[in-house]
Amino acid sequence: IKKIGVLTSGGDAPGMNAALRAVVRTALGKGLEVYGIRDGYLGLHQNRISKLERFDVSNMINRGGTFLGSARFPEFKEKSVREEAIENLKEHGIEALVVVGGDGSYMGAKALTEMGFPCIGLPGTIDNDITGTDYTIGFHSALNTVLDAIDRLRDTCSSHHRISIVEIMGRYCGDLTIQASIGGGAEFTVIPEKEFDEEELISAISNDVEQGKDHGIIAITEHVTDVNALARRIESRTGLETRATILGHTQRGGAPCAFDRVMASQMGAFAVDLLLKGEGGRCVGIQSNKLVHHDIIESIENMSRPFNQELYDLTKTLS
Ligand code: ATP
Repeated sequence: IKKIGVLTSGGDAPGMNAALRAVVRTALGKGLEVYGIRDGYLGLHQNRISKLERFDVSNMINRGGTFLGSARFPEFKEKSVREEAIENLKEHGIEALVVVGGDGSYMGAKALTEMGFPCIGLPGTIDNDITGTDYTIGFHSALNTVLDAIDRLRDTCSSHHRISIVEIMGRYCGDLTIQASIGGGAEFTVIPEKEFDEEELISAISNDVEQGKDHGIIAITEHVTDVNALARRIESRTGLETRATILGHTQRGGAPCAFDRVMASQMGAFAVDLLLKGEGGRCVGIQSNKLVHHDIIESIENMSRPFNQELYDLTKTLS
């Protein structure tokens, strides 16, 4: 193998640049040529591919986002579109591809691998919803961002005797919400893995208010319910002013934290080593503090992420 490509796809995440830097520098150090593909599978299809040198990734380790750009490109689900993408890769002599992205991006990498073009997936998403890894690149950075927001909300909601609902990203994974809830000392935690019982939540809050509590924080994952409507219902039942804050894309931005920088660097280097050993069609993870790799097809089709019940229970014990 002489030439590899690298792209970032799906939602951006802090630490993607650190992963790209590691792929580029490890590959160059081992005598490979590296090509960067702009804006994920969209740029791959549009043949926006250029060679990367050592200094193209200078001053990148500390930067949020992804310098290669990212995109949503649903057309990549079509085989004919992927065939054209593979032609573009072959035109540049690229023999393997490193894809940094979330589960949708893994589906693209799996589809290319099944068509005979080997891909390695690196888990890049703040949602922590990828199988075969304890943590995804960006999760801990986003967690710190969410904690900072909760700390600020706590200051103002305790001063004004308010209830604050904080809507946290994660798609259908409650990890970010659970850990932010523990770290931020939230009173109530609502996650997609557990059925949401609004009546139970409001009764519990009303109970606390009757006992004299005059402020509180509810951490809730996106897509569970309309948080503004929930705020109105809590306010009318408890009589306590209630506000919802949707953290939104602020969670995706910002500099990567130390953990993400180091883990992304390790994973990027590991991906290149796998390709050099002739291992294609793998996805990289970290499990029990060790770098691991799984079959990308197997991981998408058959593996599920274990739910951390103990951590969820801790949110209740400590609230
Ligand atoms: P995040 O979890 O942060 O949203 P993601 O990688 O899951 O990131 P998606 O938008 O779901 O984000 O997927 C990224 C891209 O991967 C899609 O826009 C599309 O180009 C490609 N993709 C998704 N699903 C498939 C599929 N089944 N087959 C081929 N390509 C796919």
